Amino acid sequence: MDVRIIVETTFENGTTKRHRLGCLSRPFRRTQPEGFGLLLEDAKTILGQLQKAILRDQIEEISEAGRICPDCGTVRAIHDYRSRMLDTLFGRFQVKAPRIRRCGCNARSDGVLGGPLSPLAHFFPDRSTPELQRLQAEFGARHSFREAARILETFLPCAKQVNTSVRNRLGKVARDICDSELTEPVLAEATEDAPGVTVFVDGAHIRCRPEYQKRHLDVVVGKIESHDKCRRFGLVQQAVLSPACQLRKDLRALGWDHGKVVTVISDGEPALPNLVRDAVGGKVRHILDWWHISMRIQHVENAVKGLLQIGGFSGIPVLFKRPAETLRWYLWHGKVMTATTSLQWLMVDCARLNTDDRMAAEAAQRVQARCRDLYSYLANNMDSLTDYGRRYRAGLPISSSRAEGCVDDIGNTRMGKRRRMRWSPKGAHRVAVVRAAVLDGRLTGAYQRAA
Ligand SMILES: [Zn+2]
Repeated sequence: MDVRIIVETTFENGTTKRHRLGCLSRPFRRTQPEGFGLLLEDAKTILGQLQKAILRDQIEEISEAGRICPDCGTVRAIHDYRSRMLDTLFGRFQVKAPRIRRCGCNARSDGVLGGPLSPLAHFFPDRSTPELQRLQAEFGARHSFREAARILETFLPCAKQVNTSVRNRLGKVARDICDSELTEPVLAEATEDAPGVTVFVDGAHIRCRPEYQKRHLDVVVGKIESHDKCRRFGLVQQAVLSPACQLRKDLRALGWDHGKVVTVISDGEPALPNLVRDAVGGKVRHILDWWHISMRIQHVENAVKGLLQIGGFSGIPVLFKRPAETLRWYLWHGKVMTATTSLQWLMVDCARLNTDDRMAAEAAQRVQARCRDLYSYLANNMDSLTDYGRRYRAGLPISSSRAEGCVDDIGNTRMGKRRRMRWSPKGAHRVAVVRAAVLDGRLTGAYQRAA
């Protein structure tokens, strides 16, 4: 059989036009598995042809409509045609864009008309469609630039992709995201009793390029949540002029204003809540991630358990068992002072334990070390501890695990240490910004049109 593909365009003035896109030949006597149905190669050719036909008709219609003077309605003359290269997802085309002479009716008082107008110029300032740019950025933030170029070429009839152009597009899209002052509409009445904004923040370490004189680069990643929306962010502090300003934009996009309370949950690295503090320009409530505390309590519990099991243990078991068991309960309910006191007693009891057994002495030292570890962690973050039990029962977040998901999604998928790539602060910043936007769905066509 033979398949002929014809498209028909109907213009707004009612005229129609037909384009022959090509034919497919499928002789049934010679059908092979490799030639069954539509093939990727055929599909790419047809898509390219279809794009060309649609573009040509669209340009024709816009140019025709552009010739009518908006003021007096006369048809203006065509000055000349300029040829323009246009890069789209479905191929690169040379299009003839007309330039139109200005109408006599809007001549200035001195009789000077001004240069010709191009009705198409403002559509594609950088000679490529926004969709192509977004897709290049999206793939470039997920795969290596070379790999991204290969994927695009495999599935789409686009022009030949080069790794550098993918990288440059990623940079452009990242700049657009950073520069856009766009905020989603905020419901005015919701600001009064809104429960505020929670920021989950964490850091990802990636390899740094050798010329920056350090081994690792920190990417700040996280998630901002309000009562009904969430937004991810990623940034490299060295790469932007003002990281706090960047973060403030993300907070604003989620409907934060100066009246709202901001809660930060992080794992105790002081730089991260400080960044949020700078962004907010005021007080924020910082809460230490429960999971990190819980892990350290677990260490103490295990060490005490190990000590009690040793045969040469000579102390009174309950003196060690009891504080270890109650530690978690006290900290969960925000009774920090009681918890630190029982930690201190545990350390004192370990020190007083005079035993000749070498194993028991070592185990006691281990308990002391674990206790010291937890004690200094709590002491350093004394202001950031809270009644976790009450928060938990109220349905409020107590752990920064949501930021740790972002570490994987934003930092490690493209820039993880296993990828064996080294990054400059700027390059890493761009990838992080685009990756956060991709994960939020902010790069899709529907989102962009809505914005
Ligand atoms: Zn006119």
